Amino acid sequence: MTAYPYQTHDYDVVVVGAGGAGLRATLGMAEQGLRTACVTKVFPTRSHTVAAQGGIAASLGNMGPDHWQWHMYDTVKGSDWLGDVDAMEYLAREAPKAVYELEHYGVPFSRTEDGRIYQRPFGGHTTEFGEGKAVQRTCAAADRTGHAILHTLYGQSLKQKAKFFVEYFAIDLIMSEDGVCQGVLAWRLEDGTLHLFNARMTVLATGGYGRAYFSATSAHTCTGDGGGMVARAGLPLQDMEFVQFHPTGIFGAGVLITEGARGEGGYLTNANGERFMERYAPTYKDLASRDVVSRCMTLEIREGRGVGPNGDHIHLHLNHLPPEVFVEKLPGITESARIFAGVDARKDPIPVLPTVHYNMGGIPTNYWGEVLNPTADNPDAIAPGLMAVGEAGCASVHGANRLGSNSLIDLVVFGRAAAIRAGEILDPTEAMAAPNQASVDKALDRFDGLRHARGGVPTAELRLEMQKTMQEDAAVFRTEETLAQGVRRMTDVAAKLDDVKVTDRSMIWNSDLMETLELTNLMPNALATIVSAAARKESRGAHAHEDYPDRDDANWRVHTLAWVNGGVSLGYRPVHTNPMLGHNAGGIDPARIAPKARVY
Ligand SMILES: Cc1cc2nc3c(=O)[nH]c(=O)nc-3n(C[C@H](O)[C@H](O)[C@H](O)COP(=O)(O)OP(=O)(O)OC[C@H]3O[C@@H](n4cnc5c(N)ncnc54)[C@H](O)[C@@H]3O)c2cc1C
Repeated sequence: MTAYPYQTHDYDVVVVGAGGAGLRATLGMAEQGLRTACVTKVFPTRSHTVAAQGGIAASLGNMGPDHWQWHMYDTVKGSDWLGDVDAMEYLAREAPKAVYELEHYGVPFSRTEDGRIYQRPFGGHTTEFGEGKAVQRTCAAADRTGHAILHTLYGQSLKQKAKFFVEYFAIDLIMSEDGVCQGVLAWRLEDGTLHLFNARMTVLATGGYGRAYFSATSAHTCTGDGGGMVARAGLPLQDMEFVQFHPTGIFGAGVLITEGARGEGGYLTNANGERFMERYAPTYKDLASRDVVSRCMTLEIREGRGVGPNGDHIHLHLNHLPPEVFVEKLPGITESARIFAGVDARKDPIPVLPTVHYNMGGIPTNYWGEVLNPTADNPDAIAPGLMAVGEAGCASVHGANRLGSNSLIDLVVFGRAAAIRAGEILDPTEAMAAPNQASVDKALDRFDGLRHARGGVPTAELRLEMQKTMQEDAAVFRTEETLAQGVRRMTDVAAKLDDVKVTDRSMIWNSDLMETLELTNLMPNALATIVSAAARKESRGAHAHEDYPDRDDANWRVHTLAWVNGGVSLGYRPVHTNPMLGHNAGGIDPARIAPKARVY
């Protein structure tokens, strides 16, 4: 056993992560008087949420008729019928409330002429249960919506006296012998001290794992740390095969051009100058959902109609839009196009390529954010003391494919729901249980082992190998062959973790060690992704399997569960298919959301 001194902190709630989800949960917990600590490896306003551009979906109806049931229908269809219907209903119903709350907290939304929140069209968001025209549902603060939300929530959390532990890296969950989560062990990067956060409730809001891939729009900090911690605690990850490629990452750089650009009237063309989306999605064209647009772009390139000297990308045109749109609605991406593509978007098309953007899968939860530990008798059994919200979690509202602007709303709706639930189930007057020493020692040992790792493979080299493998074998299109190869290669890559080499042994701002800890988190996420994908013999949402091109509801309308500990073992749990609110009580007509072919 390793002797490391550590300081113990007792809190009602510890939230790990200070992105939109973590901050909304922190704020909601603190507002109710729960003693709340927010632990974050980066300064809160540097979380990836800050980069969210396009906006946040809610059926406010400020720009024309809208209804929460239309939003729910679009989300069900967008998910390719894999999302949990109760969670999707909760999302769509609570969304307007959550957005007005943000407005009252002070988010500086763009405005309509008459002073209401401005809303723009986004892919897959429609009217009349997919039979009407595209709807303007995405509330925006220019093209810096995430930035506006994050700064506002941070200010409000400080006002509520939530305690922030900034640049503290959470290493592992502390679990009692009978499987109750008791908090986290964290490493303070600034001074090298270790800290045990002992809490009645631990909320994982650690974001996605885009960095398991070579080309991703997400920040370098998006390393799936929550998923890694959960896997090591013996709990499963869910639906990890569903990885969203955003149609418009800047070619080469991977930096995002928001879907809001197409929402404002932008369109894609191939080498012949053809607006090819009209062929594939006659109704919604460039505003079909993301998985669809990404596949069409990939097909155009494959069939020899890509643009550029190597025919390997696509053009996004904004140059026909009126000048004020660039200034008022798209200032950020005008700048990104100039810096990262060397293009003046007001005059020339932007070179783009589908780029890894979002993880639909994650830590399974119910719609209160409570983490699930499914058993044979109860697929919805709860792991006590543990919640997961935001991109780290899987409620599951995005199913097999997330609609644009449905993540920001997921962050605030479920961050808020987690706080409401914690307020109901926690008793701050109860004595706190002592943390399980064996679990603390195990976390310390793992930390120490990595700190002194003297193997042959540097972290950066191994990470690159993982990223390239995932990029090649778990791509937009998948086949039996690429997936089987991916499983073999990723298994070999993951095994090399035992031979990892860390050169810096210090405790203070040791980024070599921090990146190694992150790699030990990316790896189980990546493994779960490729193994779950290889097992799913159908095509659904973002999982496009060329040997099984059709969706197979009879056999595969199920959530994949992946336990990663050494190897990967898979299981499945049923999708929740019933709405909560009865049709007669104002709920959606179940016939509306019955599975059917997904066309746009
Ligand atoms: C470029 C880009 C643009 C986007 N645009 C939109 C959009 O317009 N609309 C939309 O709906 N969605 C958008 N998305 C998706 C959406 O922004 C993300 O899914 C969402 O912001 C994730 O928020 P989060 O709170 O879950 O995590 P993040 O914002 O990623 O925050 C994660 C937090 O966890 C902390 N953390 C992680 N690991 C640890 C650890 N080990 N110890 C301590 N702290 C840790 C980090 O410090 C950070 O505070 C976009 C995504 C990207 C990448």
